[in-house]
Amino acid sequence: MVLSRQHKQRFSRHIIIPEIGVSGQQKLLGSRVLILAQSPRVCSSLMFYLVASGISQIDYYFDDRENEKKLFENLIDLNTDVKLNEFQIKTKTSSIRNYTAIIVFGDIKFCSNHFKNLVSQNSNIMASTILSIQCPWTGIIKTFRSNKRVSSDDIPLNNPVFNIMHNKYIDTSFEKQGLELSSCLSGALTAIEVIKLCLSIGSILEDPLFFDLLCMRFNNDTPAYIDKPEEIEGVSSKVVATKNPSNAKILIVGAGGLGSPVAFALASSGIGTIGIVDYDDVELTNLNRQILHSTSRIGMQKVDSAKIFLESFFSNLKVIPYNLHIDKKNAVDIMKNYDIIIGAVDNLQTRYLLNEICLRLKKPLIEAGITKFDGLEMTIIPGKTYCYRCVFPEMPSKGDSPFSGGILGPVPGVLGFIQAAEAFKIYSDVGKPLLNRLLIFNAMQTEFNLPSLKKDPNCPVCKGFLH
Ligand SMILES: [Zn+2]
Repeated sequence: MVLSRQHKQRFSRHIIIPEIGVSGQQKLLGSRVLILAQSPRVCSSLMFYLVASGISQIDYYFDDRENEKKLFENLIDLNTDVKLNEFQIKTKTSSIRNYTAIIVFGDIKFCSNHFKNLVSQNSNIMASTILSIQCPWTGIIKTFRSNKRVSSDDIPLNNPVFNIMHNKYIDTSFEKQGLELSSCLSGALTAIEVIKLCLSIGSILEDPLFFDLLCMRFNNDTPAYIDKPEEIEGVSSKVVATKNPSNAKILIVGAGGLGSPVAFALASSGIGTIGIVDYDDVELTNLNRQILHSTSRIGMQKVDSAKIFLESFFSNLKVIPYNLHIDKKNAVDIMKNYDIIIGAVDNLQTRYLLNEICLRLKKPLIEAGITKFDGLEMTIIPGKTYCYRCVFPEMPSKGDSPFSGGILGPVPGVLGFIQAAEAFKIYSDVGKPLLNRLLIFNAMQTEFNLPSLKKDPNCPVCKGFLH
């Protein structure tokens, strides 16, 4: 398949990555993927990121089809090339071999039932298959390469490892929201897994990845967790929710690669008011990753495009758009009206500014940054944790330009969904946010590292505002 000029523009942030290039993007455009999911709602982030990345032939089966029409309208508007075909569950199994990847997405029962149907009579997996199982706040992803021999232990319901997701510490008062958040993160991580299978790059999750958004644990970082979950200190199951998320007001600075998943996940988890600051217009080159925007909204201000999408896709949500550059003069006036600030920007100067103003106003700042296959997240609580300047003491020289390098579409999704989970937990006072730790993500290895970091006693910013 020859890439048109439009394709080259749309996927320019993929094509400049040496591991992808023009030939990699051609492969993605030619890949065929099958999604077996419980409902359109649970797998919406997965589908947005697959479609944005250029995987345009998607066959699907949903147990429950509620909201299918609304999701599909938005997917087709995100990438007009996409072809969505309903998969007949009784299809002869031999046709399954034609898929580049099959995704089984939902709860443990759904995934166990459908996984069985993908195994041939001689116990081999018929096409590379990603099992993506969610519980409130937690998830497991495991990939089976095509022709791998499987045993009955590989059926999730038969395997004790999968049952760690049902740990009793999970806070029952936020089960629904926790499931929305874990489904969002599973979707972005699963999309990365699909892309790596299509392109034969990076390492595949043949050993399962387990994540827990409530306590911020990932089995790459805490390998013991998956073997001995009972040894990990839990969170009280009797936490009483004192704050209703629908009263929360959260400000997202940036409506691009990171701002999109943050807003998407906050809206899915029932946050009532989201303020969005951005000065850019929607461009075709944004659409490999910026899932709030769409082809028909190219040229529109990003904040307006975001408001149109979010308020139509989610009910009971109020979006307040700010079409401006945030700067020293206007930052306090905007930020003082919000409970939590989320940094989702592409330049260093704004990061230092948000850090300073959040310290001055004593508001939590949840910050992230991304390049190519990597991401970094920090949760900054004035007085309790390090600040941005403690971690990066060198201020950039004036005229620092926004990051314009390559970005694999779903990588900002992973970071943005984690930022949203941190914001939800801090507002609602549940779980354990990442205090005095960094979160470092690498998509090629699907690896999370969470090193500890203390605040700098000589930091000019913390010192100035808090002592
Ligand atoms: Zn500091």
